[in-house]
Amino acid sequence: RITVLGSTNMDLVAYVPRAPRLGETVTGHDFRTVPGGKGANQAVAAARAGAHVSMIGAVGSDDFGPRLRAALADSGVDTSLVRTADGPSGTAHIVVDDDGANAIVVVPGANASVTGVTPEDEARIAASDALLLQLELPLDAVLAGAEAARRHGVRTVLTPSPAQPLPHELLALIDVLVPNEHEASGLAGVADPRAAAEELLRDVPEVVVTLGAAGSLYVARGARPVTVPARRVRAVDTTAAGDTFTGALAVALGEGRAVPDALAWASAAAALSVGRAGASSSMPYRAEIDAF
Ligand code: ADP
Repeated sequence: RITVLGSTNMDLVAYVPRAPRLGETVTGHDFRTVPGGKGANQAVAAARAGAHVSMIGAVGSDDFGPRLRAALADSGVDTSLVRTADGPSGTAHIVVDDDGANAIVVVPGANASVTGVTPEDEARIAASDALLLQLELPLDAVLAGAEAARRHGVRTVLTPSPAQPLPHELLALIDVLVPNEHEASGLAGVADPRAAAEELLRDVPEVVVTLGAAGSLYVARGARPVTVPARRVRAVDTTAAGDTFTGALAVALGEGRAVPDALAWASAAAALSVGRAGASSSMPYRAEIDAF
């Protein structure tokens, strides 16, 4: 059982020959609306990887709200603790140019209304094997979730994204930190990912750094570091690779698998999602991960 306390966003993606400058209008050649948000993506990844997943968060009272909720439910995520807040849902306005480079504006919308956890939320967290957290909700909510998990001895997994300085108070409540290499370097103030991971062990007992196509790296206090290569695939869409990896990793660890095994399984899940177009829609189901 996994609970995710996090964001839901509708990604509004415009495909353009090149991104507009301020004051300029360009004509795009394609447009898609894709359910996303780091919290929702991790929830979908974990549910498809085979866990019972509950999402805590909020969608807006606009047209996107029911669609975001349905996208979670379609992958088997329990949305009974997802509130509907008055006003717009979270949105990500994404411009992708013909080279695949992007520019993004995120408007938190309903996500900003989540500022803490209710007694019901806490009961759900208490009944979980792990609580997955990211940084697309107000920090007060992330902190309250981590505190609730600690009170009940539930393992906390934090993706420190979008990158920002973190209060020591929060890091002290985290069991597993899963930054990508840029977030690890930023948090530790050290460029080399291995050195950054070791530095982060001062605050957190276990750190997994994802290294894109170079794989991932695990360090823990008093244990030998483990490196796992990425699976070789033709990269079609790396959006949400990290969220797929983290969702699957949490499932494997929750099942009591050894770390190297859990990392290899998470890498397979992430590689499968990278090899297909679409963010959450490309996330693999358990049988596919096992077969790969
Ligand atoms: P994020 O998406 O958060 O920046 P990464 O880019 O580090 O995270 O990717 C997360 C994980 O996804 C990596 O550790 C790796 O296992 C897998 N992955 C990412 N890019 C590729 C790729 N091109 N080929 C295979 N696996 C990949």
